[in-house]
Amino acid sequence: MDEETRLIRAGKPPKKLPKTVGPPIQRGSTVLLPNAEALYKEDLGYGRAGLVTQLTLADALSELEGAKAVQLYPSGLAAMTGAMLAVLKAGDEVLVADCVYKPTRRFCDTVLRRFGVLVRYYDPLLTPDTLLALATPATRMVVMESPGSLTFEVQDVSGIARAARARGILTLMDNTWGAGLLFKPLAHGVDISVQALTKYVGGHSDIFMGSAATSDPKIARKLEDGMHELGWSVAPEAAYDMLRGLRTLPTRLARHGSSSVQIANWLAAQPEVSRVLHPALPTDPGHPLWKRDYAGACGLFGFVLRPGSRKAVNAFLDALQLFGLGFSWGGFESLAIHCDPQLVRRTVKRDFGGPLIRLHIGLESPADLIADLRAGLDAYVAAGSSS
Ligand SMILES: *Cc1c(COP(=O)(O)O)cnc(C)c1O
Repeated sequence: MDEETRLIRAGKPPKKLPKTVGPPIQRGSTVLLPNAEALYKEDLGYGRAGLVTQLTLADALSELEGAKAVQLYPSGLAAMTGAMLAVLKAGDEVLVADCVYKPTRRFCDTVLRRFGVLVRYYDPLLTPDTLLALATPATRMVVMESPGSLTFEVQDVSGIARAARARGILTLMDNTWGAGLLFKPLAHGVDISVQALTKYVGGHSDIFMGSAATSDPKIARKLEDGMHELGWSVAPEAAYDMLRGLRTLPTRLARHGSSSVQIANWLAAQPEVSRVLHPALPTDPGHPLWKRDYAGACGLFGFVLRPGSRKAVNAFLDALQLFGLGFSWGGFESLAIHCDPQLVRRTVKRDFGGPLIRLHIGLESPADLIADLRAGLDAYVAAGSSS
């Protein structure tokens, strides 16, 4: 054969792959099939749905979620939208927690509405019975996010799941706060457990991915079909990185959780702070449910400053040296944002009586983070807060 042909066929991989701690990163759109008969028979006929690396990650996440099947998506938002698109149809109605992640809400208000799905938002603090009393014969799904990732309401997830199932209504929960570890939605009766793996499983603020887990074979089939129909794909390198993050998830989360509780308690004692929104604190209204259902806390919580101007809030944030100002969370670094501008679209208006700040507590020393927050609070007072 000519050299150009020989080069295209050159380079035989070893017959046996050496065994490493992680799976191989298998790249491929084309999958070579053994014979003509297999062309239309093999399950893995094309690489878009994932090869060895993605399948290994999905299998490991099934272990984490206690699920029969896990579907991977290119982002956490795609996991929410993909799972909803896979099971909803025109004419259905969805009840969505008012505290839901803002881009999920945007999807509900644009795409779902455009395709004839009616979306209604409910107060996440409703009891299961009051919530299910809102359902109509068209209600197909209840969407939960607990704790709400800006306002930290804790929902009675098992109560809602039970009441919904009794009426033939599906439940889907965004469990990004629980990271699949602190809370197990499927064990509490939820039909579809979604998380933004981008946050704690990734853990380093540098990869996007989401998952939807289920133990119902019919739903698993729908999620898989939905992925094929929408044409999404997850890169093997990203799947590898995600699996690497998963190995240290319990160790990291224990540290995020203990530091966040320590810092939340410290904030509660500061004169500039009127309220701390952290379900692990006994004073938090969500504490009893959190204590009943959760194995621990993560690094994400909120607090309310005594009333002050926007200028004073900005002075607080700008004085922080260790907390980055940025969205997202779940990485090794601490982050802070001002939440109020994100709350204006909500149906249920809650008056916190002062500016709401959200912190993500990273893996730095809690004493250093406390010193940083103290300097921020000093700047808040100096900039003319009323405290
Ligand atoms: C970040 C986040 C998402 C979306 O995840 P991406 O990977 O950024 O798309 C979904 N839900 C919650 C609660 C989040 O915090």
